[in-house]
Amino acid sequence: MAVSALAKKLAAEGRDIIDLSAGEPDFDTPGWISEAAIAGIHAGRTRYTPASGLPELRKAVARSLLLRAANGWEFTGENVVVSAGAKQALFNACFALFGPGDDVLVASPYWTSYPEMVTLARAEPVFVTGPEERGFNLTLDDLERVRTPATRGLILCSPSNPSGAVYSLKELRDVARWAKKHDVWLISDEIYRWIYFSRDGGTAPSLLDLDRSDVGPFVLVDGVSKTFAMTGWRIGYSVCNAELAEKIGALQSQTTSNAATPSQMGALAALTDTERAEGAIGEMVAAFRRRKELVVRRVGELLPHLSFVEPQGAFYLFLKVEAEYGDAIRNSQDWCARVLEETGVACVPGSAFGDDRFVRISFATSDEKLEEAIRRLAGRRTARSR
Ligand code: PLP
Repeated sequence: MAVSALAKKLAAEGRDIIDLSAGEPDFDTPGWISEAAIAGIHAGRTRYTPASGLPELRKAVARSLLLRAANGWEFTGENVVVSAGAKQALFNACFALFGPGDDVLVASPYWTSYPEMVTLARAEPVFVTGPEERGFNLTLDDLERVRTPATRGLILCSPSNPSGAVYSLKELRDVARWAKKHDVWLISDEIYRWIYFSRDGGTAPSLLDLDRSDVGPFVLVDGVSKTFAMTGWRIGYSVCNAELAEKIGALQSQTTSNAATPSQMGALAALTDTERAEGAIGEMVAAFRRRKELVVRRVGELLPHLSFVEPQGAFYLFLKVEAEYGDAIRNSQDWCARVLEETGVACVPGSAFGDDRFVRISFATSDEKLEEAIRRLAGRRTARSR
């Protein structure tokens, strides 16, 4: 927040700011999705829906996920709750499942809201991190180190915000089997599942790619925000057993009721017009892949003293800037503030994600701006070493 406030202040003063802090795609929502929502409004789809979402949208979510699921998976609309963004879906899951006395493991570096959600549920977040050379992906040893009789949940995000790391199918299977064995709720945040840079295309490994028998109690969280550039529409969803889905629906009915009805109509179009959806996603992912390659190449060339986690998905580069710390720059927030003042480039301090040695750079911006931003970062270093 501090860096973002400084960026706004400098921009208002007329400085040329390149904002690499965005957590959302820089594309517009595809027109046909917007048209479907507008048509819904004109057709009177402007009233309350059931708290858990339009039945046809819940069914469409179930169907779209089952299309790609491995053997043994079965669910229907009754297993799905539609919420105001993946954020509400995650909050609902934490609030419905955890409470005082419960430890919830949070894979670190983590998306900023996870520990806060666990804390709001009056449970205790326990951070666990994997080896840096694995992109921090957790191993069984890491999990065993932190497991106690109070461990009730594990929140995992793959592809990861902030690191872009992706669990391989095997890594995911190991974690899922471990969680099942210890009766730990696995909350799998798969919001960046489609933004994946494997050579073969397709989606990042999901819980649903595992054998059903490898997965114990789980809540899968996804939504349309990132996949369809629909962050402002506020539609996400959770998938879990029908009993928990009913509880989550009851919780939501007493807090916010249904997610906005016109937004649900837009999401319904996004999830049912498979052909146009795949076209739209394909274009967006191609742009993210190109930018990821640009950023990785240019950072390697111009900032060779800084290492990073090579992103395999999402649209972030987690850059290790610790090598530049000293008396004047003591931590990631100092680094971001100093770099913003000197170069006009805004990044997010890694401390927001649980690792103060890093900063997060978003490549949800144009190739030209990315190139210019990396040049400015490199120019600053040259100027300092002169
Ligand atoms: N999960 C992760 C990892 C995210 O990065 C975000 C948004 O930045 C969300 C969930 C929330 O998504 P939504 O906008 O659908 O609430």
